Amino acid sequence: MQCLDCRTESKDTPSVGVCQGCGAGVCESHARITSRTVRHGTPQGPSAQSEARWVLCKVCAEAEALTATALTL
Ligand SMILES: [Zn+2]
Ligand SMILES: [Zn+2]
Repeated sequence: MQCLDCRTESKDTPSVGVCQGCGAGVCESHARITSRTVRHGTPQGPSAQSEARWVLCKVCAEAEALTATALTL
């Protein structure tokens, strides 16, 4: 797979990951790697949390940042 953001700039760069938001391939420089808290267990039972890796493309990372800002307002 190729990086979608690089394709829009007429570059062919192999992707190193896949955006979890839109499914586009992302290269090392366009990938935005964040973490998400994942809860384990049932709602009734004991739960544990762990940090999961979350890969986004530039576009989705910007959209997520806007959403995060909107939620804090
Ligand atoms: Zn790229
Ligand atoms: Zn994306």
